[in-house]
This record gives sequence, C-alpha cells and structure tokens, in this order.
Amino acid sequence: MIIFKTQKELKTHLEALNKTIGFVPTMGALHLGHISLVQQAKKESEIVVCSIFVNPTQFNEINDFENYPVTHKQDIELLKNNACDILYLPESVKDVYLYEKKINIDLGTIATVMEGANRPGHFDGVVQVVSVLFEIVNPHKAFFGLKDFQQYCIIKKMVQELELNIEVIGCPIVREETGLAMSSRNALLSEAERKRALVIIETLQFLQKNTKPGNNSKLIDNCCLKLNKSSRLEYLTIADLETLQPTIFLEKNKEYRAFIVTRLGNVRLIDNIEIFA
Ligand code: AMP
Repeated sequence: MIIFKTQKELKTHLEALNKTIGFVPTMGALHLGHISLVQQAKKESEIVVCSIFVNPTQFNEINDFENYPVTHKQDIELLKNNACDILYLPESVKDVYLYEKKINIDLGTIATVMEGANRPGHFDGVVQVVSVLFEIVNPHKAFFGLKDFQQYCIIKKMVQELELNIEVIGCPIVREETGLAMSSRNALLSEAERKRALVIIETLQFLQKNTKPGNNSKLIDNCCLKLNKSSRLEYLTIADLETLQPTIFLEKNKEYRAFIVTRLGNVRLIDNIEIFA
C-alpha cells in the first residue's frame, strides 16, 4: 500500500495509472464496517483508494470533533491487510482545501430532514469534502455505508447535480455480534453504555416486525418512550425510501426505512433498518 500525504502527489500518481479506481472515503478509527467497503471496492475495481480525513467542516459540535478517535497506526495495518492499494492521509486540513471552492447545488428536501435538521451545516461540510476528494481521486466508483443512509442519498444527489461520472454504491450495515452497528464512536462508550446501546437495534427490529399499513403513531410513541429510558433520543423517524420525508402513515407493500439517533453519555449513535409495511 502506498501512502500519500499530499493531494498533488496522489493526483499525479493516479493519473499515470490508467486503471479503474474504487474509492472509500473515511474519517479513520477504522473497523470492519469500513473494511467491508474496501473489500467491495476491491471486487469492483482494479485499484482501491481509501482516504482518512477527519473533516472539520462537517462537525457542528466542537467536542465531537475534538474527541473523534484517531488510530492511524492501526488503520494503516488494517488497510494493508485488506488489500487497500493507496491511502490518502493528508498531512493537514490545508492540503485537502488547497483552494476555496463553493459548491452551489440544490440538494432539495432530502437534506432538510433528520441529520439535515439536527446537525446544521453537516451536509454542506460532507458535500464540500466529498466533492474535493472526488476531484482529487477521480474514481469510477465510490463506496458508502448504508449506516449513514441519508448521507448516501445526499452523495448520490450531489453526483447527479454535478453531473459526475461516478457510480455511488451503498454497502450493507456491518454489526457487532450483539447487533450494535459498528461505529468509530463506539470506542468512546463505557461498558455499561455499550450494553444500553442495544436498545437501538432492539427498537429497530421491533419496528421492522410491528409496523402495519396505516397509522403507526402509537407504536412509534412507545418506541420513543423505550429509547428515552436508556438513552437520550434525538429522533426516531420512519421515512419514505426515496424522498426521506418522515411519515407515520405507511402504505401497504411499500418500502420505508426507520432511523434512530440517540445519545449515550456524550456519544451520538446513528442506525437504521429497512421497513416493509
Ligand atoms: P466514517 O469514517 O464514519 O465517516 O465512515 C466512512 C464510511 O464508512 C461511510 O460511508 C460510512 O457509512 C461507512 N460505515 C461506517 N460504519 C459502517 C458500518 N457499521 N457498516 C457499513 N458501513 C459503515
């Protein structure tokens, strides 16, 4: 695996390769969820490029940014052992944002709900960094986890709006044996919080089993009560798969997704599951 610390060297190297590139952008503190993306990229491309960059512009809470786990040594080993070809590990924030670039695209209403409503500026930061990384790496395919389902939808929309020739591929959520969705932030949980966090997958699975065509408001209210007993719930939303607009009325034989964001101590956890009414 070759590690590049500057975008200039990476760009020059990739341009000379003339191979199909699969790209996996990450913020590091890698786990098997990230590695599943690398493995999928390997299956679908000749060269796998991964990036590790904790992008300050997508954080709306300074504490979250400052406490974000950094484990470069382990990350590099993990990537080497999983057939990643190239790692972009920028030496500074400046190296990513070499010049000022304004992205002026209309993401529409998929960006104003859930994470868009609860983390002001977050998706602007995501779009900013991913568009810069896409410009540097110029991949054929880019791999994103469905754990951040709304982010995956936003990136697809961005690619469409900017008319980029990149296929955006969504990869399944990788979970620990307990069902807890793998996340870099899980490292910040105490043992007790990790146990209490299981309420997230339990609730998602409960919703998956119990949602019915028609009005589901009682069911959702009960789930909110349960989540609030062992965590601090930010939102529980059932949303249309395409528009991401929240709904309590489900149509028969239509696909939806249930989304939960909740806090255990200072750690904000996000997860979702498919719902079929
Ligand atoms: P992050 O480092 O948290 O920005 O995540 C980088 C990429 O890995 C994003 O596309 C995430 O959706 C994806 N990812 C993170 N956790 C998981 C997981 N448990 N399963 C699948 N993909 C994941």
